[in-house]
Amino acid sequence: MGISNKLQQTKRSTSGLPCSVGVLLSELEPEDREALQDVLTSEKSSTLPSNRQIFEILKEEGHYITFYAVGNHRRKQCRCFSSNAEVEGEDK
Ligand SMILES: [Zn+2]
Repeated sequence: MGISNKLQQTKRSTSGLPCSVGVLLSELEPEDREALQDVLTSEKSSTLPSNRQIFEILKEEGHYITFYAVGNHRRKQCRCFSSNAEVEGEDK
C-alpha cells in the first residue's frame, strides 16, 4: 500500500480518548447530541436537569455512563478537554 493510500485511510490521532460522555456524544443522533451537548455546556441553572437526572435519562435510554463521568464532563474535567491541567492521565 502506497503513501497516498495510507494517508487517505489514516484518521487523525488525538491526544487521548474522550471520556465516556464524549464517546456517547459522538455516537448519538444529531438531534440528541445537540440537546445533550447543550445541557452539558450551559451554565448550571435551576431550569436545567441535574447531573443525576442526566445520568438517569441516559441510563433509561440504554447508555451506561457513570454519574461521575457526567459530572466530570460537565465541569470540563474529563479527557475531552485536554487543555485542562487537572485532567488525570494527561501527560502534557
Ligand atoms: Zn468528556
